[in-house]
Amino acid sequence: MNMNWHGVPQEWDVPWGDVFEASEEGSRLAAPCPVCGSHALRRWFDLHDPTPRLSAGIRWAGRGSQWQWCGDCRSYLHTSGLVPMWWHTDLVVDPETLMHDPGPIHAVMDASEPGGTRS
Ligand SMILES: [Zn+2]
Repeated sequence: MNMNWHGVPQEWDVPWGDVFEASEEGSRLAAPCPVCGSHALRRWFDLHDPTPRLSAGIRWAGRGSQWQWCGDCRSYLHTSGLVPMWWHTDLVVDPETLMHDPGPIHAVMDASEPGGTRS
């Protein structure tokens, strides 16, 4: 298994997107990873500009970045865009440590959310 962070393999783009699109669970998803089957899917939004706005008839919390990843097979996706209103987190990640891959966020999440949280 590839233990380095790598982009979601192209053949899994669609199922990966479907799983994250369907979830408003927060930083940990209940669904198994489409790539490896592990229950290790996570996501994180960094809200750069907390100015609520409307786009396509939906209210968003503002502009930011998103990371989606699997803590097991280490597939990940990092995008910029709008942060959904449902997102909230108590997890503090130093913005200076953020990279293209979710490694620093994953490390903080593991250390501070041992049981996971579900809303
Ligand atoms: Zn996986």
